[in-house]
Amino acid sequence: MKNILIIGGGYAGVSALRELSKIDSAKITLIDRHPYHFLQTEGYELVANTIPFDKTIVNLHTLSQSFGENVTFLHQSVENIDLNNKKVECSQDKELSYDYLIIAAGSVTRFFKSIQGLENCGHGVKSLTGAFRLKQFFEKELFMRLESPSHAKRHYSVLVGGAGLSGVEIAAQMQEYFNRYYKSNTLACESLKIHLVSGSKTILKHMHPKTIEKSRERLKDLGVIVHEGSHIKKVEKDKAILENSEEIAFDFMIFTGGITASPIINKIKTPKNKLGQIIPEPTLQLQNHKEVFVAGDAAELRDISGKLLPPTAHVAMQSGKRAAKNIKLLMKNEQAAFAHLAQEGIAIALGGKYAILDLKSFRIYGFLAYLAKKTIEKIYKWPLWAICRVSRKKRCKKKS
Ligand SMILES: Cc1cc2nc3c(=O)[nH]c(=O)nc-3n(C[C@H](O)[C@H](O)[C@H](O)COP(=O)(O)OP(=O)(O)OC[C@H]3O[C@@H](n4cnc5c(N)ncnc54)[C@H](O)[C@@H]3O)c2cc1C
Repeated sequence: MKNILIIGGGYAGVSALRELSKIDSAKITLIDRHPYHFLQTEGYELVANTIPFDKTIVNLHTLSQSFGENVTFLHQSVENIDLNNKKVECSQDKELSYDYLIIAAGSVTRFFKSIQGLENCGHGVKSLTGAFRLKQFFEKELFMRLESPSHAKRHYSVLVGGAGLSGVEIAAQMQEYFNRYYKSNTLACESLKIHLVSGSKTILKHMHPKTIEKSRERLKDLGVIVHEGSHIKKVEKDKAILENSEEIAFDFMIFTGGITASPIINKIKTPKNKLGQIIPEPTLQLQNHKEVFVAGDAAELRDISGKLLPPTAHVAMQSGKRAAKNIKLLMKNEQAAFAHLAQEGIAIALGGKYAILDLKSFRIYGFLAYLAKKTIEKIYKWPLWAICRVSRKKRCKKKS
């Protein structure tokens, strides 16, 4: 029986697992340092307190169990990957050997070393822990304002550094969250402000001009203060200094300005780009290790024309599935196929029940786009939850 390991139970790893679970002639082990798959695309909802945290996760233990006895979940952190000896070292000294490996360890927030002081001040939103911490922090701040009138009068600024997809979504959703409190008269004075800083000329760089324009309009309507065209140069305890010398005072800073591949990738000797992402073959295989595949944010992925693809959940899922299908082909002594990946569209949540759905040839704005985004999210997570529910019921029956 062949041993297949998957490192990372995110969008890419879970998609690979679902595809591989259909074969029973292999032992499949999914490894993740967390016991859950965090649905990052819904992280903005958690921060803005519109959904509880259990609605943003899928339990990896239960999910893996549902696929049968040949699938195991290991809740450990991978510390090293030995490509030459086909071994993976985990925390607690556990060592696993493999015949095939999928690296789907995702990415982390890139706290640029060139921005002085950033690492001390910037909170990230890529993990459940990070998003949960932010949610609790803002909830406490709002509650203190309710309890103490003098505290409520104090101006409070949140700075969101980076105006890509996640920065824009977080800024819009947070502002909408604060506005909700004003509308319900829970808070009397509108003294909570959100600043969104885009180092590029525009927010949502590389997106369609109409999407950018509409997003700007929406952010303005919500009350977000947008700063475009100047990068953050330095971060001090309570202010950020931009390259154009503008100073923005803040009480709390969130940084979403870039990603870098998961630190475990650093330890592998294989071609990488400047974000630390692995540059794979068009089949997603590593250049000198055809039994190893990479998927999701951990890889530099391109579409069929060679255009660089953005690191999104959509691309992660496609690449995870392709990597798994290619392992199945290798197991049948066939050639691995090229990954035909594409970013077919993007849905951007812009606070409350407003979103933009950009499908390249046309765009939808407002409530309809919001419904579409929610539907996309549900189409992804509901089947996973359903699989988990069946597995949990079976386990409970066995115990009783
Ligand atoms: C706030 C926010 C909003 C976003 N919105 C959207 C959106 O609307 N649409 C969209 O398509 N994309 C969106 N994205 C991007 C999307 O979430 C990512 O592209 C996607 O999560 C990448 O999937 P992945 O499987 O490669 O990595 P991840 O989902 O990050 O999963 C990687 C997994 O690997 C595990 N791991 C890492 N290192 C180790 C190790 N050493 N040992 C064990 N386990 C390890 C991690 O714990 C994690 O579970 C958003 C991202 C953020 C932060």
